[in-house]
Amino acid sequence: MELVLEDITKKYKDKTALRNVNATLHSGQLIGLIGKNGAGKTTLLKLLSTILKPTSGRILLDGQDIVKSPNIMRSMVGYLPQEVSAYPNLTVLEYLSYIASVKGIKKKDAEKQINSLLADFHLENAKGKRMGNCSGGMKQRAGIICALLGDPQIIIIDEPTTGLDPEERVAARNILSRLSRGRIVILSTHIVSDIEAVASRILLLQQGSLIFNDSPEELIARARGCVWEYMLPSLQEGMKGISSMVQTEMGIHIRQVSREKPEKQAVPVNSTLEDACLFVMEGWL
Ligand code: ADP
Repeated sequence: MELVLEDITKKYKDKTALRNVNATLHSGQLIGLIGKNGAGKTTLLKLLSTILKPTSGRILLDGQDIVKSPNIMRSMVGYLPQEVSAYPNLTVLEYLSYIASVKGIKKKDAEKQINSLLADFHLENAKGKRMGNCSGGMKQRAGIICALLGDPQIIIIDEPTTGLDPEERVAARNILSRLSRGRIVILSTHIVSDIEAVASRILLLQQGSLIFNDSPEELIARARGCVWEYMLPSLQEGMKGISSMVQTEMGIHIRQVSREKPEKQAVPVNSTLEDACLFVMEGWL
């Protein structure tokens, strides 16, 4: 399976949310879509889910234009939007069964799929709980299950900033990683560090432009030799590329991305995916 974005531009009135985006995605990939708030991630995912149409450009699924024929895509895609519609009075099981019936899944198949996914996402004990009484994490896991019902070949998850706790996130990532065998999985996230181990490709959006599209290893390699750590007695003005700062008894421990050695005493350290994203987003400092 091949999903091609061909020169995609999306404008909302006079606001350009995506600008000439080109990318080719293949089955077997778990794609991490990264970018600051407003970078265009949700817009891109809505275009792929055929909820929105591009202002110009084409999206091709195995050569077929899904802008002209959205039904081809709709039968293939499981999409979890950032805001999941609430059905507070339905129990988790009723909610999932309802979504399965909307998707046209036969009752017997639906039962089997729901039970297996509830087990995968550790929600078996919450089956009878009303959606309105579920925690954010439970609701999100139920949302991911909805996206997975019907065994879609393309899975698109627009991750909210809040919801899953770190353990749940890692568990969900591992399941998605397993599912990416033979499928295309796209995960938009703010939490760069925990997709490092599972993403096979990173798409980095900045102000509507795709500024990086390659493997996480390649992204990390680009920042190699450009990540530094050192101590300062206090913060200086106008410091750029600060990856982390920790106040200690001896002063402030700084981790910074920079092409040049930022301070005499700075020592080079290994780059993480987070450092590398910062490095690229700050314009290759
Ligand atoms: P992200 O998901 O990366 O936060 P979005 O795709 O939501 O980014 O938004 C990209 C840009 O498009 C932002 O500047 C946002 O304000 C703008 N935008 C998004 N949706 C609309 C809309 N319906 N009308 C006008 N502008 C929008």
